[in-house]
Amino acid sequence: MNLHEYQGKSILKSFGVAVQEGKVIDKVEDARKAALELTEETGTEWYVIKAQIHAGGRGKGIVEETGSHGVVLAKGIDEIEDKVKGILGGHLKTAQTNGVGKKVNKVLIAQDVYYPGPSEPEEFYMSVLMNRDKGRNIIMYSTEGGMDIEAVAEKTPHLIFKEEVDPRVGLQGFQARKIAFNLGLSGQAFKQMVKFVSSLYAAYEGCDASMFEINPVLKTSDDKIIAVDSKVTLDDNALFRHKEYAEMRDLSEEDPTEVEAREAGLNFVKLDGDVGCMVNGAGLAMATMDIIKLSGGNPANFLDVGGTADAERVKKAFDIILKDPNVKAILINIFGGIVRCDRVAQGVVDAYKNYGDFPVPLIVRLQGTNAQEAKKLIEDSGLDVISVTELQEAADKVKEVLS
Ligand code: GDP
Ligand code: MN
Repeated sequence: MNLHEYQGKSILKSFGVAVQEGKVIDKVEDARKAALELTEETGTEWYVIKAQIHAGGRGKGIVEETGSHGVVLAKGIDEIEDKVKGILGGHLKTAQTNGVGKKVNKVLIAQDVYYPGPSEPEEFYMSVLMNRDKGRNIIMYSTEGGMDIEAVAEKTPHLIFKEEVDPRVGLQGFQARKIAFNLGLSGQAFKQMVKFVSSLYAAYEGCDASMFEINPVLKTSDDKIIAVDSKVTLDDNALFRHKEYAEMRDLSEEDPTEVEAREAGLNFVKLDGDVGCMVNGAGLAMATMDIIKLSGGNPANFLDVGGTADAERVKKAFDIILKDPNVKAILINIFGGIVRCDRVAQGVVDAYKNYGDFPVPLIVRLQGTNAQEAKKLIEDSGLDVISVTELQEAADKVKEVLS
């Protein structure tokens, strides 16, 4: 589950990570009050206003309606309202929004932390990720913060450092010091960075994140180290033990069919292809997607209906798959282990009948317990369903209906 910047920062803060402070609002009328409250806490009247959407590149992005950038400075309380108006409620298009503007429902009014002082502010990059191959966490960091890290990786890969952390022993003090050293810090800033890295790693473990990306991490002109941005992804499988984080989910940022599927208890991921598939079990789903690919098609989705493929679930699964206008055919591939194939077949027949005029060719492969009865049931139903038992047959039929 992805979080907004302001949500990620609130989690970081709760683990003692220093962040750029701010107030989130969803109405222009609240802007002035929020800014004044912030000034009371921070003492500064310089602000930065930041669109809250699930995409990066907001600073360079443009709000379609107003031409404003997604991150803008306000030098004084009287600039706040106009600048918020330029962003809130508009559609922000950035390099990461796939060519469309994303509706901005909330903005963060934050303190401007790039204030003048004894030294120049410096921007760094830092992320914490999981390396599944090695079974370790990785802290990735760079002196080249504030910019597109993919470009840094491509042009100057030697400026990206990686520190592996064994989750059994946690982040060691020498590792945090090495990071601060490699970032060229000394004195107070060095100490602050060691503290920052340590609390950031503790936050990563503590909230069951699967990714943190803080770009930029800022060394302020008075040598504080703070998170200016936050991109936080939490592990969905751990949300059951963090009710307060689960509530942070912003459904307006998610694919509506995926939301509907989750509510129905179906394991569904939308893809870009043309063949919808409905399968029981994740491994079989992966194999089925391969078969579709080998038949010259492309899977339109991943859908695991789970162990109980009754008429209701099959109907729901059809509804969800058929919402995608790219779907040209559907392949159902069920292995009857505990679930009986004839039950599933009855479910398919009932759900199919419900549609009246089923919009695309339907290929059904049922194998395992009572597969023969299932095949007969489908054939006797008189419905226009292609029933097969072998995988190769299924692949051939997919090819046939697509051509
Ligand atoms: P992103 O563009 O979506 O990654 O959003 P960020 O939160 O990273 O902000 C974009 C850029 O705005 C940052 O890289 C900074 O250079 C700049 N920025 C963010 N906060 C401040 C601030 O408080 N003061 C100033 N002067 N610039 C800021
Ligand atoms: Mn950023």
